[in-house]
Amino acid sequence: MSGREKIGKEVPPEELDVAKLSGIGPATKQKLNAAGIYTIMDLLVQSPTYLLDILGGSMEKVLNLQEKARKRLEELGLIQKDFTTAEEVMERMKSVEYITTGSKNLDNLLLGGIETQAITEFYGEYGTGKTQICHALSVNVQLPKEKGGLNAPAIYIDTEKTFRPSRIKEIAEARELDPMKVLKNIHVAKAINSSHLLLLVKELGRKIMETGARLVVIDSAVAPFRAEYIGRGQLAERQQLLNLLMHELIRIAELYNVAIVITNQVQAAPDVYFGDPTRPIGGHVVAHAVTYRIYLRKARNARVASIMDSPHHPPGEAVFVINKGGISDP
Ligand code: ATP
Ligand code: MG
Repeated sequence: MSGREKIGKEVPPEELDVAKLSGIGPATKQKLNAAGIYTIMDLLVQSPTYLLDILGGSMEKVLNLQEKARKRLEELGLIQKDFTTAEEVMERMKSVEYITTGSKNLDNLLLGGIETQAITEFYGEYGTGKTQICHALSVNVQLPKEKGGLNAPAIYIDTEKTFRPSRIKEIAEARELDPMKVLKNIHVAKAINSSHLLLLVKELGRKIMETGARLVVIDSAVAPFRAEYIGRGQLAERQQLLNLLMHELIRIAELYNVAIVITNQVQAAPDVYFGDPTRPIGGHVVAHAVTYRIYLRKARNARVASIMDSPHHPPGEAVFVINKGGISDP
């Protein structure tokens, strides 16, 4: 059993606060938080030299602090006893894993499925299946590893009020999973606006540690910003906040070895004369931050996914359908 599979017992979130470690006073806490380090786990997986930069003092003190962090997580049952050093925890957390989409075509296009430690963006017009894919993945991540899952819960941040428990039940049943158990393993948060979304994302690390989730869905990540920052004069501010969001997501994906899936809509691109005259919202900020961009479009009786500007993937398309079991090959 890996350390992560043990995560999920009820540890109150405040127990994971870095300030809970002896030797961390208010000033140290403030320095750590300013560097995005909130939980004991955040602290453990940083490189000692980086921590030395942030905290000052001596290397010995830094290593001492990380040792305390490791011991504390072990006491809480959040990491295995046989992790002997912080470095070992990091090494084990480094391995990338995959979640099946349910469609072999789409998994192949993605060279194995949805990756952990990466942000995968699905974008496309309304009704192209973005929300359906999010539902399917929230179930699939719970499948055993031999069936393409990670045997772990999901966190689902819904900004569009389109999360449907009934649809989860349907997919779970089709995949021969206990629907009630599957529903309980999807931790849903509804974000009412962009600042609420940012707040939820700030708390994500803690939530991931509490639940043991290996997938984080945000449907839609960009829409709230688009809806609230409308005028041209607000564009800079909007992009700045989006940048903040995206960077926090990158950090979380890597640190906690989770897959992050976000959805995005399209807007007209009036300067495009050939090919598809639409593009995802969010400009360069989102484009640079996401690891994989998948464009979805409707075809007759099916959906087509294309992988956009990925340096690692050969260009290609995958045809899939939406059905009772989520999504699958036609
Ligand atoms: P938006 O931009 O409006 O959020 P979206 O890309 O999220 O759109 P979805 O809600 O994922 O779109 O897709 C809706 C489509 O999924 C419907 O048009 C319907 O055809 C299909 N669909 C939903 N549930 C099922 C099901 N149980 N079986 C087959 N198809 C389904
Ligand atoms: Mg949707």
